[in-house]
Amino acid sequence: MGIRLLLILLTLWVLYISVRRYIRRREKNDVNRQNKIADNMVQCKFCGTYLPESEALKNNSDFFCSKEHLTQQNHDH
Ligand SMILES: [Zn+2]
Repeated sequence: MGIRLLLILLTLWVLYISVRRYIRRREKNDVNRQNKIADNMVQCKFCGTYLPESEALKNNSDFFCSKEHLTQQNHDH
């Protein structure tokens, strides 16, 4: 009886670990998906380089990869 109880506990433990690992992997995938949506790629209006919106400089509705390009673009007008 003791060995059977031990086997049942072991099976439950393995199931518990598997389920936990499965849930954690699913959560990680969800976070990755959200990051991709948040990191929307935008194009520098001056040189055409693509960069994440979070790193880009915004001027009205235009995006720039650096402060230099933002000011150079403004000087042209
Ligand atoms: Zn640029």
